[in-house]
Order: sequence, then structure tokens, then C-alpha cells
Amino acid sequence: MDDLPTSSPASHAPASVVDVLVPVAIDQAYSYRVPRGLSLKPGDVVAVPLGAREVLGVVWAENPNPDPRLHNRLKDVAEKLDVPPLRDELRRMVDWVSTYTLSARGMVLRMCLRMGEHLGPERQRMGVRLVGSPPQRMTPARRRLLEILSDGLLHGKSDVAKEAGVSPGVIDGLVDEGTLQVEPMPRENPAPEPDPDFAPADFSPEQARAAETMRGLVTAGGFQAALIDGVTGSGKTEVYFEAVAEVVRQGRQSLILMPEIALTGQFLDRFAQRFGVRPLEWHSELTPRTRARNWASIAAGEARVVVGARSSLFLPYADLGLIIVDEEHDQAYKQEDGAHYHARDMAVVRASIAKIPIVLASATPSVETEVNARKGRYTRIPLPSRFGGQHMPQIEAIDLRREPPMRGRFISPRLAEQIGFAIERGEQALLFLNRRGYAPLTLCRACGHRFACTICDAWLVDHRFRQRLVCHHCGFSMPRPPACPHCGAEGSLVAVGPGVERLQEEAANLFPNARTMVLSSDLITSIETMRAELNEIAEGRVDIIIGTQLVAKGHNFPRLNLVGVVDADLGLSNGDPRAAERTFQLLNQVIGRAGRDQGRGVGFLQTHQPEHPVMKALIACDREAFYASEIDIRERTLYPPFGRLASLIISAGDRPTAEGFGRQLASAAPFDERVQVLGPAEAPLAVIKGRYRFRLLVKSVRGFDLSNYLRSWLAKGPKTKGNLKLEVDVDPQSF
Ligand code: ADP
Ligand code: ZN
Repeated sequence: MDDLPTSSPASHAPASVVDVLVPVAIDQAYSYRVPRGLSLKPGDVVAVPLGAREVLGVVWAENPNPDPRLHNRLKDVAEKLDVPPLRDELRRMVDWVSTYTLSARGMVLRMCLRMGEHLGPERQRMGVRLVGSPPQRMTPARRRLLEILSDGLLHGKSDVAKEAGVSPGVIDGLVDEGTLQVEPMPRENPAPEPDPDFAPADFSPEQARAAETMRGLVTAGGFQAALIDGVTGSGKTEVYFEAVAEVVRQGRQSLILMPEIALTGQFLDRFAQRFGVRPLEWHSELTPRTRARNWASIAAGEARVVVGARSSLFLPYADLGLIIVDEEHDQAYKQEDGAHYHARDMAVVRASIAKIPIVLASATPSVETEVNARKGRYTRIPLPSRFGGQHMPQIEAIDLRREPPMRGRFISPRLAEQIGFAIERGEQALLFLNRRGYAPLTLCRACGHRFACTICDAWLVDHRFRQRLVCHHCGFSMPRPPACPHCGAEGSLVAVGPGVERLQEEAANLFPNARTMVLSSDLITSIETMRAELNEIAEGRVDIIIGTQLVAKGHNFPRLNLVGVVDADLGLSNGDPRAAERTFQLLNQVIGRAGRDQGRGVGFLQTHQPEHPVMKALIACDREAFYASEIDIRERTLYPPFGRLASLIISAGDRPTAEGFGRQLASAAPFDERVQVLGPAEAPLAVIKGRYRFRLLVKSVRGFDLSNYLRSWLAKGPKTKGNLKLEVDVDPQSF
């Protein structure tokens, strides 16, 4: 992420042939004829024939000089949709993202048209009202209809037909005779106007300064990036709400990006407390109807504030004035299927194209963002203390080498004792373990057989609630057999290691009177159940919460004062150069849930390596030390942001094919002294769903146009065929 776009193409007068980009996996726009009487300009949303289907598309350019020989063979645009055109700003964003990530332009466009690909947004509902004198010929059906409409008000056409028990044709007949009139129903606005002065916060002096900077950013206008760098519980949300309030006053739109929809529940309420109404939501779990309505409301500019997952970055805002990226360091911002893009980085791109401010917020910024702040490219807005004088949690290590849990247990005696005290005081405790299921491995005590997925390079995870052994990579599952399939021994299978379900069992044994709850993504059936469970915790109806990273981030649980990290070393051992950063961020976040409201929070790290720099930095509350050493390592190894990376993942049904293609591709890499191509080597997950995966890592110096280099390499290099597949990931998150 180095260069930001600069120039803007000009627009022309309507033409008879237009190039239309359609949301499928291709780069180029197709030419279509414009039927007589239709006038089209770039950005217009149209329906066009594509093969046997009709699809939505967007006019990307006018084609003033179409090839006359082709002209007669072109198909016509079928229809122009009655929705606002995609603005120049969004079309440039699509082009930019596609060029940068090497994703097909049509696939990027698809993210903008997520209101139903074939339908378009909700059709305008029609209403009917009584306007003329009664008809000459009266029938019982007509009489029933006119009775209902006698109030002279506008009624929904289909509603009134249903109520009167008549077909729509009866209404049309009366319209022809001048008795009734059909007109569009006013669309219900799903997003009422937020009131910027509904309940302004009472700021601490530190917050007040930050809020002042926020307002200044918005009033100054133009592209600017700021980082709210505030400890957990410092009130980052309240502070960036001031920027949002200012944008509402200007009558423009704000987008608040959240890494996970798990975080939006409490957020919607907090927003409503501040602004009087809830913001508009955008995420994958909206019903098609709500999705269409929200899309239309965003495109029309009625929705003033949108809170959404990463895909909301591609919505057709009528007048976007501000982007907030909450928990900007979060890995969930990286989209790994379809188009590979990092929503935080693309948000910065969008802000620069739209010439608007962007605010990133985090207690543990990504190393990239931290470096940008240190170099002054981003304005740092510090919030070094918690709101209301609350102390930061005190963090202690529990050295598992010296204080191990009892055999078959995972909670050390000291941690168990502390949990007991917390419950006695009427407080909550959180046990954090980033591992779903009951146990990560099942093995046979008799012969040593281990249960592995047959098509992935992974162990099967024991899930007791579902009563199955499950592969976390492909979803394959099987019942836990009564005997070992290898040696036939009975009753010899043992669960090895803990998952959250197993911890719950242990906690329930240790504290039989405590109310426990497991929060893990695989146990959650819908966003409603998740919100209900998070509410139960917030209201104090749970004593011990056992959770994966789903509970680590963003939530406010007022009675939670103790956090126990069951395996603090878990994320450190996977060989990923970002492992230290990730672990530091995650543990900081999860311990940051403690002591936010009253009392002193404490965090316990069960670890085998209390001397590890990540543990030392956490225990000493020394963030500075952590960033200093991490930045130093990246600088010396030329890893991002001091160098650039891309990864090319090659996969095939067999190993030699994948590896062979990897070699061929590597040897076709154009020579450039600023670039280094490493590999092919087995990808971190060497087999997924029966596909063997190899990886080339492409490393370049900072400021190098890696996308362009990759494009010319792939254009000249060997082509994938058969079941070979090549995936390009520019700025990979794990490397
Ligand atoms: P962060 O996102 O920095 O962890 P939050 O924005 O969630 O912190 O704030 C932490 C808690 O403090 C929340 O319950 C929030 O409502 C409260 N809070 C923060 N600032 C204020 C304020 N100025 N007035 C009242 N409550 C505040
Ligand atoms: Zn599998």
C-alpha cells in the first residue's frame, strides 16, 4: 500500500454504444448498443443480456467509435434501472482496487451491486387512492374496494387488493375509468436522521482535546488520516462520534467499519444513546429485502451513518464525508476469498479518492499504521488513560513450568483460586482460549493412531456439543467411533489438549454453582442469538465466560474484572512473522475487557515462556518496547512496511503438478534487482480439500509497483490449465 490514486477521468456526452462492466470474473467491459430513446452515461446502472441471462451492470464508458463491423452484432441494453448512477468516485475505486489486487474488475464491481444481482433494488411500491366519481357499472368487488378507499388516502396497491379480495385488474379497470389513481408509495426510510446534539458526551479533558481534533478534521475537509491511539476503555468510540456528529451536521454520510458483526450489537445501542436513532447496518446476514432497502437508502443519501463489515466499503454512497475504521489492526479486515483485499487499506484509498478524512482507531495499532503515525503521515490522537479514572488491568504471568495444572486439567491452581475469589465478590471471570471445540486432537492410547482429515493437512477437532470430529478447514466431519479404526482397541481414544468446550467442563467441575457460558463462533446459529448471549453477559447473568476471539474484542461487560488466558503461547508457535504482533494485539484486547467499569481488572497469562518479549511487554504494560523491537525486526528483514510482499498460491489435485508449476512460474519471473522471488515452498497449510498448495513469496523494496510487476509476469509466464489454480494475494497478512 504505497501509492494513492491522483487523477480523475473526464465525462462526455451520451453515445450510441456503451461499454458495460458486469459483475462476473472478467476485467473488460462489454459493448452494448443503446436503444433509441434511452440516454446513458457512465455510472448508470443497467440490465444487459449476458449469454442466456440478463444481469445488472454499470456503464463504464461511452464508446464513441465502435467498430462498424461489430455494431450490428452487438446486443442492446435491456433497461436502465431507476437508481442513482454509480458515482465517478466509486468507479475509480473499483478500477483502483482491481489494478492493485489483480482481482477481476467485474468481481470488484460485484461488491458494489450487492443488492440482488438480477433484480436490482426493491421495486418501487405503488399506491392507489380515490380521486374521481364512482363508476357507471358497480360490482360487489368494486364496491368492496371503494369502501376501503373512501377515506381518500393512499393505500398500498397490493395490500388493498388483498384486503378487498379482488384481483389487481379490478383496480386497473377503475384507474382507466378515472375513479382511482395509481401513484408511487413514499418509500419508508430505514434510516431516520441522527440528531448530532441528542446526548453529547461529557468529556474528560483528554477526550475533549481529542474530540476537538476530530471536529477540526471534518471541518477542514479533504483527505487526511488520523489514528485514535487509545488504551482499552479510553472512550475511543465516544471520541470518534464527535467526527460523525460533525459530518451529520454537514448533511453528509459517514461509514463506520467494524471488523466483525459480533461487535455491532452493543454498538447500535450506544450509537442510539448518543444520536437518538440507530445507524443503518450492512453485513452478510441482512435479509434480501433489508439489503435492497438499505442499499437504496445509502445510494439515495438518506442513510446518514452506516455501520458495517468490510463489504460496506464498496457501497454507492451518495455523499460520503467520513470513514472510521474501528479496531483497525484486526485481521478480519482482510478478505481472503474472491477478491483478496485489506479493507483498512482500501478504506484509505477510498478516502483519498473521495478527498475526505479517515479515522483509524485501535489500542494496539498494526505495525504498518504505527509506522505511518511515527512518520507523521497519520495524525496521532492519543488517549493514554481509561475514562472515569479506571485503572488499566494488572497483568501477571503464571509460569506453567513451575505451576502446572493437575493432570488432565488446563486451569492452574492459582488461576482457579483467583476465579473463585472473583465469583465470591459477585464479579465475572473470562477464560480465553482461541480454540473451538472440545479438543484439537484425538488419539488412540493403544496404537498411537491420530485422527486426521483425509483431504486436508490437519487434525480433526473433537466437538462434543455436535458429537463429531470436525475438520476446521474443509468442514468434513464424522462421528467419534467407539473403537480405534486402526487397531480395533475399544475405549482407547483420548482427547488431547483443550478447546473451549473442554474448559467449560473443567470450570463447571471446579465451580459447580457458577453459571458458565461458552461463546464460540461454531455454537452460534444467528446474529440474534449471539446478540442475546452477549446481552446476558453484559447484564451479569453469567459468572464464568469461556470464549474464543469472539469475546476478545470491543465488548463492554461491566462486571468482568478477571481475564485468564489459558494458553498465552498458542499464537506464537506457528512460524508466521506476524505471530508476535498478532498475539500482542489479541491478548491486549482480551485482557482489556477487564475492569472497565468498577474495581481493578486483572489478567493472568498462563505461559511456558514468561520471558518472551510479547509476555514481557504485556506484563510491564510497555507497548513502546514492543513496537520498538517489532519495528526494528521488520526494518532489518525488509518486511512490511519496510518492504513489500505478495504471495502466489498454486494449488492442484496432486503434489508434483502444483510444485512443478510453481517452479515454472518462478523461473519465468522477470529480472528486477528490486524484487526477490522465494520458493516454491509448501504453503503454510500444505493440503486443503485434497488440493496440494505451494507458495511463491514475492518480496520487493518499498515504493515498488508490485502489482504491475506481477501483472506483466503473469501475462508472460506459464498459464494454469486443468485443475491448476493460481491465487494472487498482494500484501498477504500471513507470510
Ligand atoms: P474503547 O473503545 O476505547 O475501549 P469505549 O469507547 O468503549 O472505549 O468506552 C469505554 C466505556 O467508557 C464505555 O462504557 C463508554 O460508554 C464509557 N465512556 C467513555 N467516554 C465517556 C464519556 N465521556 N462519558 C460517559 N461515558 C464514557
Ligand atoms: Zn479437511
